[in-house]
Amino acid sequence: MKLSFHGAAQGVTGSCFLLEAAGYRILIDCGLFQGSRELHEDNVAPFGFDPASLDCVVLTHAHLDHCGRLPLLVKRGFRGEIMATQATFELARLVLLDAAHLQEEEARRRTRVAQRRGREDSEAPLYSIVDALDAIARFDRAASYRQPMTIRPGVVATLFDAGHILGSASVLIEAEEGGFRRSILFSGDIGNGGRLLLKSPETPDQADSIVMETTYGDRLHRQFSASRGELYDAINRTFARGGNVLIPTFALERAQEILFFLRQGIEENRLSPSVPVFLDSPMAISATEIFERHRDSFTPAVAAMFESGKDPFKVPGLRLTRETADSVAINRITGGAVIMAGAGMCTGGRIRHHLRHNLWRPEASIVFVGYAAAGTLGRRIIDGAKEAQLFGEDIPVRAQIHTINGFSAHADQNELFAWQEKIAGKRAIFLVHGEVPAMQAFAARIAAPQVSIPQLGERVTIES
Ligand code: ZN
Repeated sequence: MKLSFHGAAQGVTGSCFLLEAAGYRILIDCGLFQGSRELHEDNVAPFGFDPASLDCVVLTHAHLDHCGRLPLLVKRGFRGEIMATQATFELARLVLLDAAHLQEEEARRRTRVAQRRGREDSEAPLYSIVDALDAIARFDRAASYRQPMTIRPGVVATLFDAGHILGSASVLIEAEEGGFRRSILFSGDIGNGGRLLLKSPETPDQADSIVMETTYGDRLHRQFSASRGELYDAINRTFARGGNVLIPTFALERAQEILFFLRQGIEENRLSPSVPVFLDSPMAISATEIFERHRDSFTPAVAAMFESGKDPFKVPGLRLTRETADSVAINRITGGAVIMAGAGMCTGGRIRHHLRHNLWRPEASIVFVGYAAAGTLGRRIIDGAKEAQLFGEDIPVRAQIHTINGFSAHADQNELFAWQEKIAGKRAIFLVHGEVPAMQAFAARIAAPQVSIPQLGERVTIES
């Protein structure tokens, strides 16, 4: 077996790993590099392998940093099959079409900039909506958790519920090579156990090698119940001051989870039942519909709610705003509303308009409920920036900033440690999908015989 790293190596985005096993070339994930605009160059750069030479792709989950370069892969010659769980297929369709739309918009923006500088040529998007549709057309066999699937002769993939977002999986690949059976486990993103919506992560009993995420390899999350209390407090205090609460929201999972918490807060009399909540994200609205189709994916308590005819994501004052005009109308509300909008890291999307209208108001609050990568506007605000650049204006940051990391969809250091402890027989662990200090802290904690932090483009041979 040979393994090479083409993304999320000493960084958190762009997950993409090439496994060469039993004479086949299998790609695990094909994610977009995300963060500041400079990362466009990383996405444009060659993959580090010939897309046409691949036999198939297995996706761990539908987050953009795990599937967002698939249209580019197909555009550059990939003609094989893409496999994932059914829920991942459904969510990834949304994610890829949205990403292609944003890429087309971004190309038009770059063209306008070039024209202002006197250049005539138009800038091509990284990929178009047609490229995204071509990638979606390659979605083929849907995998079920714990059901081994022969992906190529002599190569079997088994997906385990990673408990990270709906449909998310850790992927175990087993291959026959020269009379030996070898196995390698790709963690995907590992969920934060004991959450209210999703089941806790599962693992296979055994794997020879592990490629493992380390997003929070150096941090511990706060207690989940304390985090819920923090959210309710932030909302009640902000309303008492007369401001709005902005929640930069990841469309998949976090948006639905926050709706669920708001509903609970109202049921427990910790929030007013008349609190107006705007879900201002067409993608989050569509993702919520997909969630409602996969009722068996949730914890027994949530499944029972569905069973009794209750929708766990319905809040009495919820308004879904798909249309741009409805989104713009929210800007007239100066206080007393909860506004959830994407993108979660404030790299684009409608949240930037809401930030422009609220970030300078001392009575407002911005509540971050997820990870914000280095270099993103979200991270700069969390780190205490005094000003934020939005639409060419410098907006002073006067709103209260809250970071509630107990809602994270990622395991913390203790959970990552426990996750890998459950897997017997491992001889090598490759740490990926983390910033270097997090990886080093985690490497120092685990006592596996061979732990490494591979670099982008590195290729290793796995002996057994
Ligand atoms: Zn993820």
